[in-house]
Amino acid sequence: MTQQNNIPFLDLITPHQELAPELTAIFQSAISTGRFIGGPMVEEFEENFAGFCGAGFCIGVGSGTDALRFALMAAGIRPDEVVITVPNTFIATTEAISQCGATPAFVDMDAQTYNMDHEKLRQYLETECVLENSRTVHSGSRRIVSAIVPVHLYGQMADMDAILEIAADYHLHVIEDACQAHGAEYFSRKLNCWKKAGTMGIASAFSFYPGKNLGACGEAGAVVTDSEDIARHIRMLRDHGQSQKYHHEMEGYNGRLDVIQAGILNVKLKKLAEWNLQRRNNAQIYNEQLRSLESIITPHEPAWSRSVYHLYVIQTEVRDQLQGYLSGQGIGTALHYPIPLHLQKAYIGNGQTSGAYPVCEAAANRILSLPMFPGLDPNRVTTVSNHIAAFFNEPSR
Ligand SMILES: *Cc1c(COP(=O)(O)O)cnc(C)c1O
Repeated sequence: MTQQNNIPFLDLITPHQELAPELTAIFQSAISTGRFIGGPMVEEFEENFAGFCGAGFCIGVGSGTDALRFALMAAGIRPDEVVITVPNTFIATTEAISQCGATPAFVDMDAQTYNMDHEKLRQYLETECVLENSRTVHSGSRRIVSAIVPVHLYGQMADMDAILEIAADYHLHVIEDACQAHGAEYFSRKLNCWKKAGTMGIASAFSFYPGKNLGACGEAGAVVTDSEDIARHIRMLRDHGQSQKYHHEMEGYNGRLDVIQAGILNVKLKKLAEWNLQRRNNAQIYNEQLRSLESIITPHEPAWSRSVYHLYVIQTEVRDQLQGYLSGQGIGTALHYPIPLHLQKAYIGNGQTSGAYPVCEAAANRILSLPMFPGLDPNRVTTVSNHIAAFFNEPSR
């Protein structure tokens, strides 16, 4: 009998138990004031999160998906336009684009960083689009291409200098999908300084889904922006288009951040920097212990990046076998994501088949996300690494 470990892929219980008194106090405060939507607790969180990011404004919304949809709408994305993103992301990125009435177009990922390959982005614009009167038009469909949504996947920012430069050349907005990258940093060679995720595009979407680096105890999200106009627009979009109660300047949505979630996020935000540091330290331990294994590719962090390791993702040819082996040892893992978006049933009929984005498709069969969460004991990281080494050193395998 081998000894069973009990190392989950994600532990959402321990961090909340440690904060339980402060978290229950938030609920107590809400039921004692009877204030559940809007007000000081929401505004306090918005101010704190804008401050954390180093951005001018934060607008709390109902989810990361709301944040993406509202950010695109407020940036002026119109129906029938094309918005460029990557095929290796969570479907919320493309749902938000489609729900604006726009059409998602894909550019393949970079093989090392898993983020948008800016050379392929430029190639797509040069070969499939034309500039007409300061607008970029897709030659085939004649649709206007209006925006790029880079996704800061696994907690690491995309190469924003390069993407912003291409966006400027083609008059495109850049909206960051920062749903996995709270606190991630990028060294801008152009600005000669470090920039936090969410402060480089015209607007940026964050998710506070429970498993994210900053997670609510339910659904929540936020848009971060330096534009006062966009901030004002999103405050209306999230609240039925109201500028004041029962004065509707347009149709909007029910997409607000509620008081209890905002209060909980205020409590947890104080821990975020420490939690991100723990993730970075644990990633370092994985790197050191897995680096010598030839059958594994560990994450690549360029010198210009400080990832917050929302996920720690390795690659191996024998992914399924390794995942099964670890599961047998009581070690949880996950796949982000097993099927690229263009091959999902939801997008069959868009004319894109297997082979369209070869880098992303190859990675999808090889990636494996290892345990990574706040409070993960470094000794358990070593245990996971040892079991991975044992799997590859097993002569009978
Ligand atoms: C989680 C996530 C979203 C969606 O956030 P929700 O809060 O679940 O709506 C969008 N994009 C990415 C990359 C995500 O990881």
